[in-house]
Amino acid sequence: MADQFKNYLDGKWQAARSAKAFENRNPANRDDLIGFFPASDATDVDQAVAAAKKAFPKWRLVPAPKRGEVIYRVGELLRKYKEDIARGMTREMGKVLKETRGDVQEGIDTAFYVGGEGRRLFGETTPAELPNKFAMSVRAPIGVCALITPWNFPMAIPTWKMFPALLCGNAVVLKPAEDTPLTAVRLVEILQEAGVPPGVVNLVHGRGEEVGAALVRHGDVQLVSFTGSAAVGREIASVCGQQLKRVSLELGGKNGQIVMEDADLELAVEGALWGAFGTTGQRCTATSRLIVHRDVAKKMSEMLVERAKKIKIGDGLDENIEMGPLINQAAREKVLKYIDIGKHEGARLLTGGSTHESGSCARGYFFQPTIFDQVKPDMRIAQEEIFGPVLSIIEIKSFEDAIDVLNSTAYGLSSSIYTQDVGRAFRAMRDIAAGITYVNGPTIGAEVHLPFGGVKDTGNGHREAGTTVYDIFSEWKSIYVDYSGKLQKAQIDNAE
Ligand code: NAD
Repeated sequence: MADQFKNYLDGKWQAARSAKAFENRNPANRDDLIGFFPASDATDVDQAVAAAKKAFPKWRLVPAPKRGEVIYRVGELLRKYKEDIARGMTREMGKVLKETRGDVQEGIDTAFYVGGEGRRLFGETTPAELPNKFAMSVRAPIGVCALITPWNFPMAIPTWKMFPALLCGNAVVLKPAEDTPLTAVRLVEILQEAGVPPGVVNLVHGRGEEVGAALVRHGDVQLVSFTGSAAVGREIASVCGQQLKRVSLELGGKNGQIVMEDADLELAVEGALWGAFGTTGQRCTATSRLIVHRDVAKKMSEMLVERAKKIKIGDGLDENIEMGPLINQAAREKVLKYIDIGKHEGARLLTGGSTHESGSCARGYFFQPTIFDQVKPDMRIAQEEIFGPVLSIIEIKSFEDAIDVLNSTAYGLSSSIYTQDVGRAFRAMRDIAAGITYVNGPTIGAEVHLPFGGVKDTGNGHREAGTTVYDIFSEWKSIYVDYSGKLQKAQIDNAE
């Protein structure tokens, strides 16, 4: 009998009120049943939000350095259980062990970084314009925060949201993706072990359309922090807009790597392979367009095809494997659909383009590393997020062309340029419309102490990670202390 997992509400593990459950299966082998998770509904959401609302007044008064110490302890426990969590993550979402270890490491880095922030959470003091008056601004918590997360970084993304939210003194309800509920359970077990008080963190499993939507519209939720697709982000933003609720959105990408004729080609090839096929292309920052100068395009595509064919595909729990499966059948159908679209649009398929089902891969959602060339910037495969191991090569004639092509999609998350020319590198840093630009590195590889997010349809202007994340999870409060003992009127008493 497979394991039965629960929601975490008000410090207690509980089944869904309806007692319904959904299955979590291994995408590398669908015969491998990981367990059953609560198929919650709006009544479970009500209970979670009520618990968070009740816990908030006490948690907000715990001094921030003390809240930071709890998060620091969470980091130590994540480190202790890292290997076990990584293995469970590979089993539930398929990416190879090296990458799931990296995903947990991102949670550890975030915990230590955020934990220390408890003693910094700076406000400002500034001279008041009137005598015997003191002026300062401080950060205040917001209240109950709903955190809705995708499956591709099942530890990193929840921790990016949850740790800063808690550090600022908020209470949270986490709704993890349906495909990765196990990693969310592991995280919450650790928070419990670290001593987070009941109700401060709540976990509700279930479908986005049901549990996620109920959370978003709940009247006692003051903030929604969402990472996922642009389509769902738009829906959430419109509900939050109606309710004047704070909402931070981290959405899709159509990231491009530029390779100029003076680039170190070996380095650029290595970067493109890692950027396009790491996590089976299922990263918001994945390289899905290679924008390459025509003088080196042929050489580069030959090098890429030769290496892509050698990528070892299989179960990510095997340390020799380099690329795991896609997350589920729907994802595989979507990638297949884009292969057809690409061919139909006139792009040339250089390698891949099909599912990979040989041998031990027969029961998983595997797909071959795929490369198209002769791609035009306005083709759908060059414009829309595919979220699979598909790289589109677009040839350009000049640096100016490269920037125009890179900037020609609706998204603006990550970007990269390979060149030896420092002037071009600086122009690219200035002119690329994206939240992240790498020079001589692939489009993936963000570090937790720098702002993370994008421009245009990638989001709504917020940045997670870094110190910018505190602007999502706190309100600024300006405070004036008048110790003059008389009524003083700003802009009036001191007018010329
Ligand atoms: P998704 O939008 O389908 O789901 C994300 C989360 O939203 C899940 O927990 C889901 O259950 C929930 N959800 C779905 N419908 C909902 C609704 N109507 N109301 C409330 N919640 C709802 O995305 P996904 O397939 O899980 O993830 C892939 C997408 O996430 C890609 O577009 C990728 O680029 C994006 N992503 C972005 C970032 C970033 O930081 N910018 C990081 C990772 C992934």
